[in-house]
Amino acid sequence: MTVTDPKTRRIQITIVGAGLAGLTTAYLLQKAGLDTLIIEASDRIGGRIHSVRDAENNFLGDLGPTWVWPPYQPLATKWLQRFSIEVYPQHEEGRAVHDIDPNGEPTHGFAPRQEGISRILGGPQALVDCLGSALKPKTLELNSSLLAVSQSDKRLTLRTSQGQISTQYLVVTIPMRLAAETVEWGDCLDPNLIQLMSAAPTWMATQAKATIVYERPFWRDKGLSGQIMSRVGPMAEAHDHCGPNGFPAAIFGFIGLPADTREKHRDLLEEAIVDQLVRCFGPKATKPTSISIEDWALNSNICSKLDLATPPAHPQLLPGIIRESHCDGKLFFASAETAARSPGLIEGALDAGSRAATQILELDDG
Ligand SMILES: Cc1cc2nc3c(=O)[nH]c(=O)nc-3n(C[C@H](O)[C@H](O)[C@H](O)COP(=O)(O)OP(=O)(O)OC[C@H]3O[C@@H](n4cnc5c(N)ncnc54)[C@H](O)[C@@H]3O)c2cc1C
Repeated sequence: MTVTDPKTRRIQITIVGAGLAGLTTAYLLQKAGLDTLIIEASDRIGGRIHSVRDAENNFLGDLGPTWVWPPYQPLATKWLQRFSIEVYPQHEEGRAVHDIDPNGEPTHGFAPRQEGISRILGGPQALVDCLGSALKPKTLELNSSLLAVSQSDKRLTLRTSQGQISTQYLVVTIPMRLAAETVEWGDCLDPNLIQLMSAAPTWMATQAKATIVYERPFWRDKGLSGQIMSRVGPMAEAHDHCGPNGFPAAIFGFIGLPADTREKHRDLLEEAIVDQLVRCFGPKATKPTSISIEDWALNSNICSKLDLATPPAHPQLLPGIIRESHCDGKLFFASAETAARSPGLIEGALDAGSRAATQILELDDG
């Protein structure tokens, strides 16, 4: 039996996680007139979506996701259109740099192109900001972590880092592995389901990304696309990351070093990145206006211990049971990894968040 704390708050729908999936669920439920609270462990919204901004808050680039593929992603297309957010093609014109031989000069060649690969004006953060600002005041409780869930009568009791909540419905949008690893589920969940959650890798959770901003996109002057494919590093792969007309001018790269090496040599990383860009693009790369690095492996609200201990893998479509309701219709899972389409991607987060909202609306109607 759960002892109810007199300070327990009664909430109709509690959403855990203010990433894209959680914000989508809250937006749709509030539009339908239902009361929602989002609890978010960190001090900002967006989760894996995180942008770099200048001192005047202008968007410079992404440290989380960058790309959408509108021809193949109807949900991303629909949601971006809903908020009149523009997309533009990823710049891929020109030759790529192959930085392969540690003892030789980089060479120029071709890199594979992707049909439909696109950037979002203002980054995916533009979508997060539109969703966040459409929510009712007091919807968001930041710095509040879900710790434990138990069942009591017809409701769920949540223990959070900020107190106790009694909720009619609970939507959990934190990465599945993290939910299995960090939340006490008591008798709410079958151990087989917890095992299934643990088997779902968190897409990109162990990656680190660097965004390097320059005054102008000088690499384009030389007919270079901005793409680097490297075995010399530290960026294993880099891409042009400029705004639609080349400004703000930026390159982003995935750092190809293991997480423990990155952490150990963090103080050397920026210099090594600039050295690599000078080697690949020439001396104009010497003086970036800014370098930002986000190491997602160090973010314990995204990357689980199991993600760190196992090789990274793209999430597969999880069995349908993960998309069903649990705890007698009171609990739903809706992180991007639970999606029925494009699991792990932005499209997946929109799919999962919309699906959970629809499930609750159907139950609430019935
Ligand atoms: C480097 C990188 C590059 C990527 N590139 C692409 C790309 O180009 N295109 C693409 O489509 N996708 C890409 N992705 C994936 C994309 O970012 C995700 O699909 C999407 O952002 C996931 O959203 P989500 O809401 O499901 O989860 P998340 O964004 O992970 O949100 C979960 C939220 O839950 C919070 N939380 C965790 N634990 C608790 C707790 N106990 N209590 C309360 N809150 C908690 C977290 O702080 C977080 O805010 C990339 C991801 C990364 C990291």
